[in-house]
Order: sequence, then structure tokens, then C-alpha cells
Amino acid sequence: MSNLALLGGEPVSPATRLAEEAVWPPQNETTAKRLNDVYFSKGWGFGSPVIDDFAQAFAAYHGVKHGIFMANGTVTLQVALAACGIGPGDEVIVPAHTWVSTALAVQYLGATPVFVDIEHDTLCLDVDKAAAAITAKTRAIIPVHLHGSMTDMDKVNALAEQHDLKVIEDCAQAHGGQWQGKLLGSLSDVGSYSFQTSKLMASGEGGICITDDDDLADRLFRISHIGYTPGALQGQASSPPETGMLCHNFRGTGFQACVLQEQLNGLDALIDRYEAARNYLETRLQASTKIRFQQRGRCVTRSATYKWVLIFDAPEYRDVSIETITQALNTEGLPVVPAVPPVYQHVLFNLRADQYRISDEGCDQAEAVVEHSVSLLHYFLGVEQSSLETIAEIIEKVMGNLGELRDIKK
Ligand SMILES: *Cc1c(COP(=O)(O)O)cnc(C)c1O
Repeated sequence: MSNLALLGGEPVSPATRLAEEAVWPPQNETTAKRLNDVYFSKGWGFGSPVIDDFAQAFAAYHGVKHGIFMANGTVTLQVALAACGIGPGDEVIVPAHTWVSTALAVQYLGATPVFVDIEHDTLCLDVDKAAAAITAKTRAIIPVHLHGSMTDMDKVNALAEQHDLKVIEDCAQAHGGQWQGKLLGSLSDVGSYSFQTSKLMASGEGGICITDDDDLADRLFRISHIGYTPGALQGQASSPPETGMLCHNFRGTGFQACVLQEQLNGLDALIDRYEAARNYLETRLQASTKIRFQQRGRCVTRSATYKWVLIFDAPEYRDVSIETITQALNTEGLPVVPAVPPVYQHVLFNLRADQYRISDEGCDQAEAVVEHSVSLLHYFLGVEQSSLETIAEIIEKVMGNLGELRDIKK
């Protein structure tokens, strides 16, 4: 009988063991009590002081002046683009490998997303290829700090300066990460964060834009708060938004902001714990397997991990399909998930061919990722050391028995 659980052997870990230990989203008594207080305060909605407090704390954590809290991390991108004046006829560069929202946000403004390939090592936007994709219509660029790895912000900002582009960092997967000692989101015109359930800070839904620019902050606030300025009471706006600026209601609630406050306090400890776990796993597996790991980026001074990515593109893995590797790891008790395809091939991306553009150089790296990689969500890195050892054992077992998997067809 085979050794591997996929072929009838004994699994390393019972199916749900790791998932039971890897708790997400976080819960604590302090937040439960504060939520109760917010509920009885009735101040959950328009002008909620809880929202202001959290938005200010989040901005201060990033060393910038303004935080504008919103309903989710998709509208934050849309509002950021709108505040930067992006509209019909404009082109915006986005990486081919990201969540679909990054590209859809561009489309909501009637602008055109232009997909550019990612780097082999970091899986983040290849800024040299972005340079080659610039046309007279290019107005902005959205680097995505994918899975917590970081786009080369020095190159992005140099390119933006050269071509007079706006830069919006999509930090939905990189809370707490630092590039050369600066917090992600503070390295560009606007930083956009999501607080959707799976993210490194989670309030079910939620998002925020941060910026150090007073004018942009005013526009971000007005566009997402139906034209109001900060501090105005409902029904008592004192000045109109500028003519033609289309404002909407993308406000979040005080309940969301309240849930996030304790998580912000604990963010550094959380991502440092993940980093230590990842270092342990990668050091061990680098010695025992041929797996390649997503690199964190060139100037990372504090790493955030949203997904831990394992890449099986060494010659040893050529004859085994990624579906088979995924199933083999799953049946041993490790709930890794497949990579998403390039945005333009994603099932939820349905723009007409004339509504987007793929850069002339193509997106080979983004297309390869889906063939060769799997990932583990961040909260599995928060488990005890003995469970990290179980994770490593599972991966080593499957890699050590690859021969048995070669004959399995997709
Ligand atoms: C999650 C995510 C978004 C969208 O955030 P929501 O809060 O789910 O709308 C945008 N960009 C990236 C890279 C994401 O991972």
C-alpha cells in the first residue's frame, strides 16, 4: 500500500486539525466590551467618533496625516483613482496577478486597466515591464503588495516622476509591512487597505485610504461621503464638492472601526510571529525540498505575510500536476489552495476586450504562477511550533514520495 494519504496511506494530520488551531478572525474580550459600548452609544453611523478615532490611529501608525474609512477595499481603490482625477480615456497600469478588484476599480471610472506581468521572484508588478507599457494615455499605476511581498517602490516612484503618473498602492494584502523603514501605503499618493474577513486586519468588510496630501484627503473624504467634509453634521454641509466631482456613499460603520482597533494594536506582533514561522518553514524546506518560495522584496524592513506561497517549478516537479500536489497536501492535512489565474483569465473578470489591454510583452510569469504554485493563508502561520513542524512534515512527506504521484492524471 502507498505511503501517501492521497493513495490510501495514513495522513500526517487529521483533516481538520490545523484548521481548528488556526483561528481567524481574532477575537478578544476588550473588543467585545468596546462593541457593547459602541452599540449603546448609538454612535455607529454618520460622524461616528469611533470611526474617526480608528482612522486617525491607522494614519498615525503609518506616519501620515489622513485616514478615510470606507465600506471595503474595492471602493477605496475606486475612490483613490477618482480623487487622483482618473476617468474615461485614461490608462492605469495594474499587475496581471492580483485580486480582480484592482482592475475593476479602474473600470468603474471608465478608465482602461493595462495588465503588466509580475516578477519571477516577488510575484509583484515588474516595474521595468510597466515602463515599456506606458503610452500617452497612461495616468496612474497601482502597485499591489501581493501576499505581503512588496513591489519595488523606488522604481515605481522614479517611473511615476518621469511620466507624471499618480501612484496608488494596493495594500489589501500587506498590513504592517515596511519598505525601507516606511509603512506600506505611505510611499505613494494614496495607500488603499481592505479589512475583508480574510485579510491581516479583518472586520468582515471595511477599507481605508491613507494619504499625507491635504487636497487628496479632502477629495477622498468627499467622494466617499456623498460630498461632505470631515466633521460636518449630517444635513449641515457648509461647502459643496467641486463641480463635476461625482460623490457617493461608501461609508463604513463604527462597529467595523471598533473591531479593528485592537487588531491594529496587535498587528506588529502578529506579522512578526508569521515571519518567524515562515523563516522556520522556509529554512527547513529549503534544505529538504526543491520548493521555491515567493520573495518578500528588495528593501523589506518588516515583512507582512498574507499568503505563504510555495512554487513547484523545479525540474523535479515537472511531471506532477499542481492539482495532484494540492490534493496530496490536502489529504495529508494541509489546506493549501490553488493560485488565482491572471486577472484577465479569472472567472469573475468579464470585461469586453476593448475595455482592457494586456501589455505587448505579455504576462508569462503571471500565467505560470497558476500552473506551479499553491498557498497557505496567513493564520496557519500563527499555530504552535509543534504544528509548524507538522506542516513541514506534510510537505516533506509529499515531496519525498513524488514518484507515486507521477502517474496520476489531472
Ligand atoms: C481583498 C483585495 C481587494 C478588495 O478588498 P475588498 O475589501 O474585498 O473589497 C483589493 N485588492 C487586493 C489585492 C485584495 O486582496
